[in-house]
Amino acid sequence: MIHKLNPIVYLQIASIFFIVQFSACAQEENRITPLTTEDFRFDGPLGSDGAHIVEIDTNYFKITLDHAPNQPGWPNKLNFEIHQNAKGNDLTLEVEFEGGPGMSFNEYAQSWSYDGLNWNPVHWKYGRDESPQYDILKLPVFEEDHVYVGTQVPMSFEDAEGMKKKWEEHPHTSLHTIGESIHGRPLYRLEITDPTSPFAPENRWVHYFANQHPGEHNSQWRMAGMVDWILSEEGEDFRQRSISHFIFFMSPDAPTYGWYRVNREGIDMNRSYRPEGSNREEQTHEAYLWQKDLEELMASETPVTTIWAMHTWQGIVEPLLRPGPEIGSTLGPWTEFRDIIKKNDPDSLVKPLAVREGMPGYGAVSWTEGPHEQFGITAILCEGAGAFYTKEINVVSGEVLIKSIAEYYN
Ligand SMILES: [Zn+2]
Repeated sequence: MIHKLNPIVYLQIASIFFIVQFSACAQEENRITPLTTEDFRFDGPLGSDGAHIVEIDTNYFKITLDHAPNQPGWPNKLNFEIHQNAKGNDLTLEVEFEGGPGMSFNEYAQSWSYDGLNWNPVHWKYGRDESPQYDILKLPVFEEDHVYVGTQVPMSFEDAEGMKKKWEEHPHTSLHTIGESIHGRPLYRLEITDPTSPFAPENRWVHYFANQHPGEHNSQWRMAGMVDWILSEEGEDFRQRSISHFIFFMSPDAPTYGWYRVNREGIDMNRSYRPEGSNREEQTHEAYLWQKDLEELMASETPVTTIWAMHTWQGIVEPLLRPGPEIGSTLGPWTEFRDIIKKNDPDSLVKPLAVREGMPGYGAVSWTEGPHEQFGITAILCEGAGAFYTKEINVVSGEVLIKSIAEYYN
């Protein structure tokens, strides 16, 4: 006897069968492969030399950081790429540094990005004060396969080079290559001035802005904000009345290795000045070339009026002034400069300008004290911005400063 199935029951069984099949298919398509150590790289444009990664659990890894050349107490920063397979995975990292007391890797917020342009802040669980050699970083579930992670709001040498190439298209800029780093990267100085200005070059103010510590990226975005403002319509008058020089990386080899303060020789780039004069034998390679270039500018018909050393430490932007001869003579008193900055800073991104007289400083081997001692020029140590977590806010802080420079040095 043939068993006759009720057609409705038959349909129900068939549809259950179909649903089971379909959801199995969907699971197959959405199946997420957890991250493996193979998905990470530490040698891209933003890298961390010698970093060692091991898997602890699903999407949970431990990274041990290595140290800067000749500086066993100075950890390389945590910069890396997930070059594949990130989508759908979250990520937890235990990070440690075994190099003994010295600097910390976790004094600033980290950032992550899908494209290396738009960055999102991510904060350490403990931070330097609580746990200077061990910390935990948790990243969200990723929506794309490729992810970049770096310290502060990162800027690679290639990022800076790309921006300079773009800025170079403006007729008021020239990009000078003053030499090469130890690894052969060009040492760029971007110069901005209006060559058709009615003001003779020797009557223009000359400002020199440079980053010594390559891992202090927030200070580089501050400079990017300055450049964009100078090249905007608002900066037209400033381009006529002044000459500006920008150096985004005195140590351009650093970002791919995660070196925070140094060059290949492990020299702290803000302890690399020689107030007696540049000397190939006495100075580390890049510092010698930069100081020689500065000395050539000082001997030209357009010597530098102000030298700005662009750095990052905790808090908001903090400019500290060593006044040169123009302040309080050709120009108003330094307090006028301070008040102009305050007026141009509605969001309170910059601490009131302060004079460094009597403060200990870092001695004449730094890129503020050194040029101030060698040439007597105005020198500003521009610190802070560790409290800023986005590119945009760093850019705005740079606009505040450059607008104020334009107004005071009028
Ligand atoms: Zn610094």
